[in-house]
Amino acid sequence: MTRLLLLGGTSEASQLAQRLAQDAIGAIFSYAGRTRAPASQPLPMRIGGFGGINGLAEYIRTKHISHVIDATHPFAAQISHNAIAACAQTNTPLLSYQRAPWQAGPDDAWCHVPDINAALAALPEPPARIFLAIGKQQLGVFARKPQHHYLVRLVDPPTTPLPLSNAQIVIARGPFTQPEDTALMRTHEITHIIAKNSGGAGAKAKLLAARTLGLPVIMVDRPDMAARDIRDSVEGVMDWLADHDVAPPSGALRGV
Ligand code: NAP
Repeated sequence: MTRLLLLGGTSEASQLAQRLAQDAIGAIFSYAGRTRAPASQPLPMRIGGFGGINGLAEYIRTKHISHVIDATHPFAAQISHNAIAACAQTNTPLLSYQRAPWQAGPDDAWCHVPDINAALAALPEPPARIFLAIGKQQLGVFARKPQHHYLVRLVDPPTTPLPLSNAQIVIARGPFTQPEDTALMRTHEITHIIAKNSGGAGAKAKLLAARTLGLPVIMVDRPDMAARDIRDSVEGVMDWLADHDVAPPSGALRGV
């Protein structure tokens, strides 16, 4: 019996959930439970961690999961690592579904770094004005270079004070546009941008704005991950499923 486990928390996962539901392919949607009211999905949902590799392997066994699709964020390395190990342990086919990373063009000035600490090290020593578009979890790292001014863009207002003294917060939810981000960077006299290579269209505007303004981007590359099958579109996932003997049941009507 087909029963997919779809590890979610991204727009890609939600799009895939729509398609699986339309095609009447049996699947369970899993959220980490980071947000108070996660968007509802057209699939049965479960919320919360599994309890590491062994917990996930146990879940796969007891729920008779036939395939795992990891559609978590490219920087959610722990759950992806756990999925690789648990699927190996249970001999369960695993696919990673993630958006393609951004690529620098000839007019871009990107400096690639492996992690946030390296991004901090790549900043100049003289005071500069930094646009931080990296979420909130790792902001504290930048307290080690207090000479800079930080413009921090967040989706939700922080519930505790920022760990940075010389910082200004902008609350905004993407997708963003190049003109908006160009104007934002001009207004705040930004000199450097720090970004994580998430990929996708909605957050790319800052990179296009940086190109327009000739500003350097310190790009945090995706975490290393063991080899696994990867697709970057819903159609690619459906092809992978077909290759693994998963198809809509006969009579399933798409788009109804
Ligand atoms: P993480 O560090 O890779 O995962 C930490 C732990 O959270 C995992 O070990 C697992 O707990 C649990 N977990 C993560 N995703 C889960 C899922 N889909 N279903 C059930 N448990 C899950 O992940 P993170 O960076 O904290 O991100 C958490 C969630 O937010 C992910 O689902 C991700 O897609 C989403 N997200 C992350 C980012 C980012 O920049 N990191 C951005 C946007 C969205 P157990 O070990 O107990 O199983």
